[in-house]
Amino acid sequence: MWAGETPDDRPADVAVIGAGVVGTAIARALAVQDVSCVLIDAANDVGTGTSKANTAILHTGFDTVPGSLESRLLRRGYELLGDYAARAGIPVERTGALLVAWTPEQVAELPAIEDKARRNGVTDVFRIGADELYRREPALGPGALGGLAIPGESIICPWTTPLAYATQALAAGARLRLRSQVTGIRAGAPEHQVVTGTGVVRCRWVVNAAGLRSDAVDAMMGGDRFTIRPRRGELIVFDKLARPLLSEILLPVPTARTKGVLVAPTVYGNVLLGPTAEDVPDPADVATTAAGLAALMEAGRRILPGLAAEEVTATYAGLRAATADRDYQIWVDGARRYACVAGIRSTGLSASLGIAEYVTGLMAEAGLRLAGRTEPDPPVMPYIGQAGTRPYQDAARIAADPEYGTIVCHCERVTRGEIRDALAGPLPPADLDGLRRRTRVLNGRCQGFYCAATVAQLFAGSGLPVPAAPAGRSPAAESPA
Ligand SMILES: Cc1cc2nc3c(=O)[nH]c(=O)nc-3n(C[C@H](O)[C@H](O)[C@H](O)COP(=O)(O)OP(=O)(O)OC[C@H]3O[C@@H](n4cnc5c(N)ncnc54)[C@H](O)[C@@H]3O)c2cc1C
Repeated sequence: MWAGETPDDRPADVAVIGAGVVGTAIARALAVQDVSCVLIDAANDVGTGTSKANTAILHTGFDTVPGSLESRLLRRGYELLGDYAARAGIPVERTGALLVAWTPEQVAELPAIEDKARRNGVTDVFRIGADELYRREPALGPGALGGLAIPGESIICPWTTPLAYATQALAAGARLRLRSQVTGIRAGAPEHQVVTGTGVVRCRWVVNAAGLRSDAVDAMMGGDRFTIRPRRGELIVFDKLARPLLSEILLPVPTARTKGVLVAPTVYGNVLLGPTAEDVPDPADVATTAAGLAALMEAGRRILPGLAAEEVTATYAGLRAATADRDYQIWVDGARRYACVAGIRSTGLSASLGIAEYVTGLMAEAGLRLAGRTEPDPPVMPYIGQAGTRPYQDAARIAADPEYGTIVCHCERVTRGEIRDALAGPLPPADLDGLRRRTRVLNGRCQGFYCAATVAQLFAGSGLPVPAAPAGRSPAAESPA
């Protein structure tokens, strides 16, 4: 058994399949309402799927389809997560965004985008001219003709978010069953039997939050309403020295197919360029490609020419769980005690709490008993952002515990104290990638060259099962840096 896991065989009210940002949000919402809940994932940690490999923007929803479920849940999720993040210590920076028009045709589209934003309930959006664009972003490439300011768009830590939800769910009594791929479901009354690689989970309700495999899980429940068409997005992470090049998120004019290639700061102090949008047949294909990265570099040079001179720290790819329908595929079948939460394509991080609130509300309407408690305080997570005070900067904390003054990862300024805390926490990492997502260790420009041996030693000394994976990072395992 692994720390953080409690794979006992007691039946649960609800089995949530998929411990990404959506599944953990749902498990959290259920557990804090006294619903007994098992959170199941095939992976060795929470948040290892698309949830760790995205653009890390807390979207307002200004450009969604007005009237869609996505628009509604994203708007609600944006408000809920903004508040939750502030209380849980999840890094968020309220940078705002500029949507830049580079052609007369794109300029002509701006009024419609502004109108759409208002219809989506995002009213603090306004048009600006080229002079104002260059005043706000002097490093912007030549040729910008005008744009829209969207002050509410923000950047957020995609790693701490599902970790916070899962930590809170566990504290409220949820059970976590990792390394447990669901291979079949014997749906029945009065209980379902969810067959996993580590045994059978008995439950009254099944929630399908399996992301890229949600169509397969839906089929296990007898469904065939949608097919996931993975859409790969490749991204490039630039070194922290690139960060002064911009202060806001720089968005393109979106198309019907994609939000397009953006340049954004990250909460870790880097700059992110991407993503591409390419349909791929394999829901596990998170490889980056020479062609994809070349296309991004070309777009990046146009948007922010200074990027060309900056060092690339990492590249990675994530897969959007797209379907033939643009909108989220969410429904609850009360008679069969089944909730499908699928097709959460490009906005699931931002919408996660809105989705969880909506789904648990539908489940309650269908007969699931919620305690009706007022929302409890979230756990306070270790702060890994760049904008706030980190332990190595906190003299009082170092005085009380000198381990916070001992830096192990010099690129990212991660201390022994933070690594120790992560390894001893309620949801410890299963490998070095998990430790990276909890602390930022190994995430910097040296790629772990200087600290990997020390970090591996600390891991080995923690009493946790020693990870088999080497310290290095494969491109496929990358996430926003
Ligand atoms: C390139 C890119 C950029 C994006 N940018 C943003 C952004 O800036 N802002 C934003 O809000 N959103 C963004 N998104 C979207 C967001 O990342 C997703 O909507 C969100 O992560 C989906 O979360 P999830 O929990 O549904 O899926 P996942 O995180 O993929 O989780 C699904 C989980 O289910 C598990 N699973 C699957 N099948 C099984 C099985 N049979 N048994 C057990 N477990 C199983 C998987 O292991 C996985 O952990 C972006 C997405 C991409 C790809």
